[in-house]
This record gives sequence, C-alpha cells and structure tokens, in this order.
Amino acid sequence: MPKFKYFTFLIILTASFTHAQILHKDLKDKNILVVYGGWEGHKPKLFAEKIVSWLREKKANVYVSDTTSIYTNAKLMKKLDLIIQHITMSEISENQIDNLTKTIKNGVGLAGCHGGLGDSFRNDVDFQYMVGGQFVKHPGDNINYKVNISSEKDPITKDIDDFNLTSEQYYMHVDPALEVLATTKFTGKHDPWIKGVVIPVVWKKYYGKGRVFYNSIGHSIENFDIPEVWEMTTRGIIWACK
Ligand SMILES: [Zn+2]
Repeated sequence: MPKFKYFTFLIILTASFTHAQILHKDLKDKNILVVYGGWEGHKPKLFAEKIVSWLREKKANVYVSDTTSIYTNAKLMKKLDLIIQHITMSEISENQIDNLTKTIKNGVGLAGCHGGLGDSFRNDVDFQYMVGGQFVKHPGDNINYKVNISSEKDPITKDIDDFNLTSEQYYMHVDPALEVLATTKFTGKHDPWIKGVVIPVVWKKYYGKGRVFYNSIGHSIENFDIPEVWEMTTRGIIWACK
C-alpha cells in the first residue's frame, strides 16, 4: 500500500474507532454524582431528575445532592467517575471549591449545561478557570437562534446538523483553550455592537486529568426534548466520564 493511502486508512480507522468507542462507552457501574441547586428559575431539581433517570437507565451508580457541601465528602469524591452539576449562581465556600477542583484535577469528569455550570458561583474565578467560560448576558432573552456545529468529526457532534431553537442565546466570556464543538452567531438585533460575534455553545476541555464538558443550552427543561440538544448533552456526559 502506498504510504499516503496507508496513512489515510489509519486516520479513518482511528476516527471511526474513537467514535464507536465513545458512543458505546458504558456508564454501567460508573459512580456519578449529580449536584443541583441555586436559582429556582432554572428548575434545578427537574433537570437533576431527568438526568438521574437517564443515568439509572444506563445502570450507573448515581448519587444525588442538593448541596455543595457534598464536595467535602472525601470518601465519596475519591470513588467518583463523574460529577454533573446544575447550580445557577449561588455561592461556594473555599473549602468546597478546593475539594472540587482537586477532585477534577485528579481525573474525575465534570459536565453540565446552561447556568448550572456556566453561571455558577460568579465570585469564584477558580471555578470559571476549570469550566472554561462564564455566562454574561442573553440579549433579547428568549429568541430564535441558530446553533452551528463546528466539528463534524468529533464523536459528540458527529452526524448532528446545524439547528435552530427558541431559548436564551448565551453570550459567554470563554477560555481560548477550549475545544469548541458548536457555536452561535449574534445578529446584533438586541445589542448592535455584538453583531456578527461568534460564541461557543458546546465545548470540551481538560482540567488537569479531568475531562470537562459544557453545553450552554438548557434554560427550560423542554430544550432537552430537541433531539440535537439531548444527543450532544448525553454524548458529552459519556465523554466526560472517567
Ligand atoms: Zn436561563
């Protein structure tokens, strides 16, 4: 086989293997903690219930908490494979954030959506550094906007087409180190000076050895009925799991 052809063949093989591996990666017996709370407008308990029922279908060992004090439970933190957090705003103590960042740095995954991960603990820059972005505004509130898939090859967005939805279009301050999987462009209709600005919607990144997955969609629980949103979210959760 000529060198070039062999090389191409290897790339295709590796790509399809990675895709299959991630989509079929099993959550069975994985220890997953779901932590919810914060601003009630995002219905954190409803989100937690939806995710927990899916995780249980996947036969994961699920732990649920409505308080960040769980992050100081060293025994539990040690055995976890993934933390899914849904806490908008609220606050976190120094001891709790230290334990959480240490846990993720050591290899536990972190995943979440919308304000539950992208707008938690506004005062805490260590948290923002770990997640890779912070919500700042949703101009026009609930509007119709387009999500553009940036990576057709990544297992999280593979076979997903661009789509439109009506919800909050998150304008975020983001870390340039992100691996961006989907974006959205602002029309400038509500704030003319941001016309044409492209902001990440879905990303993945590392924090130490831990995998971090984020999706800015999810203002209402109905957003997850959109097949593209649910697919990317659940694939991202699987990817982030240790
Ligand atoms: Zn919202």
